[in-house]
Amino acid sequence: MKEFLQNKLSDRAQRLDGKAIKEIVELIAQPNIISFAGGLPSPESFPAEELASLSEKMLREKGAQALQYSDTLGLKALREKIAQRYQNEGVEVRTENVMMVSASQQALDFVSRLLINPGDVVLCGLPSYLGGIDAFKSYDAQMVGIPLDEQGLSASHLEAKVEELIQKGQQPRFLYLVPDFQNPTGITMPRFRRLEILQIVEKFDLLILEDSPYRELRYQGEAQPTFYSLDASGRVITLGTFSKTFVPGFRLGWILAHPLLIEKLALIKQTADICSSTFVQALTLEYLEQDQFDANIQRNVKIYGEKQQVMLNALEEFMPSRVKWTQPEGGLFLWVELPDEINARQLLAKAVEKGVAFVPGDVFHCDGSGQNTFRLNYSYTTHEQTQEGVQRLADAVAEMITISTR
Ligand code: PMP
Repeated sequence: MKEFLQNKLSDRAQRLDGKAIKEIVELIAQPNIISFAGGLPSPESFPAEELASLSEKMLREKGAQALQYSDTLGLKALREKIAQRYQNEGVEVRTENVMMVSASQQALDFVSRLLINPGDVVLCGLPSYLGGIDAFKSYDAQMVGIPLDEQGLSASHLEAKVEELIQKGQQPRFLYLVPDFQNPTGITMPRFRRLEILQIVEKFDLLILEDSPYRELRYQGEAQPTFYSLDASGRVITLGTFSKTFVPGFRLGWILAHPLLIEKLALIKQTADICSSTFVQALTLEYLEQDQFDANIQRNVKIYGEKQQVMLNALEEFMPSRVKWTQPEGGLFLWVELPDEINARQLLAKAVEKGVAFVPGDVFHCDGSGQNTFRLNYSYTTHEQTQEGVQRLADAVAEMITISTR
C-alpha cells in the first residue's frame, strides 16, 4: 500500500495481518485442485426450492414488515422460537437471553468488544478456530493457548496455566471453547470434562465463551450438554448459528447470555448494523414454523455423515501407518497428526503439486506450534473427489516420510 495511506491507518488496523492465510489461499488457488482446506457446507444441503416459494409468498403477503428495519435484538418471534428449541432440550433459556446476530462471526466480534481491554489475556485451545483467535486479537487480546487431549481442552493444563497467570497479575478475561466437533480437530468434550472446566472457571472467576456452530450435526453417539445448561451462575455466553444447519449465506445466528450482557450487546449491535436482515430473519422464522427445519437437519446429518465416512475409509486405506487422525462424531472437520519430523507446510507444497490441499495446523495454534498437524474438511467435496484427494495426499505424505528417513 502507498506509504501515505499506510500511515493514516489506526494502530489497530496497522496490526491486522492476514499474511499467513493469504499465503495459503494463494498457494491452493490453482485449477483442478481437490480442496479439503475450506469449511463450506455442501450446496446440496441448501433447501433452495422451499426457500424460493417461501420468499415469494413472504414478499407478497408480508413485504411491508419483512423489508423494513426491525428490533436490534432480532424478531421477537424468532428469539422465542430459539429459546423454545433449547427449552425442548430441558435448558432454561428465555427470550430475554437471546439476541440475533449476523451469524456467529459477528458475535465473536461483539463479545470481543464487550469483554476485552487491550492487552487482556484470552484463553483458547491449542488448536482453536482461527476466526475466533483473529477476532480477539483484533481487539488486542493476548492469546494464551491450553493443550487439548482426546477429550478436548485439558482441565489440568487449564488450572495450572490460570494459576500461573494470576500469580503474574494477569487475570484472564475469558476462556474460548468450541466444545462440540471442534473446528479444527472435530473433538467433542464429554460431560465430565465440561464439569471439570466449569469448576475451574468458577474457582478463578472466569467467563466462558461457548461457540457451537456444529452441535446439531451429530452422526454418532449422544448429545453432550451445553456449558450454558451446566452453568447456574450466568458466566457462560453461548453462540449459535444457522450457517451449518441451514444456510451460511443468510448470515444469521444468535447469542445466549445473561440479560445484563444481552442489553450491552444490543448497544454494540446498534452501532454495527442496527439490526440483522429483517427479511432473512422473517424467512428463517417462517421455515422454522413450517416444521421443515428439523427434517432439513436430518437430511444434512445424513449427507455429511456419509461424506465423513468416505474420508475416514480413504484415510484408513491409503495413509502410511505412522499418521494419526481423529474420528469425530459429527461436524465438518477432522485433524491429522503427522510423525513429529514432518512439517505440514512443506507437505502442503508437495500436496498442491499433486492436486490436493488442506490447512496446515500451525495457523490454528496461537503460539505457532502444531507444525506436524493439519485440518481436513469433508463437507464440500464429492465422494469421488474425497477418495482421489486422500490418495494424492497419502502419496505426498509417503514421499515426505521417505525423504525424512533418508
Ligand atoms: N465459529 C466457528 C467455530 C466456526 O467454525 C465458524 C465458521 N467456520 C464460525 C464461528 C463462523 O460461522 P458463521 O459466522 O457463519 O456463523
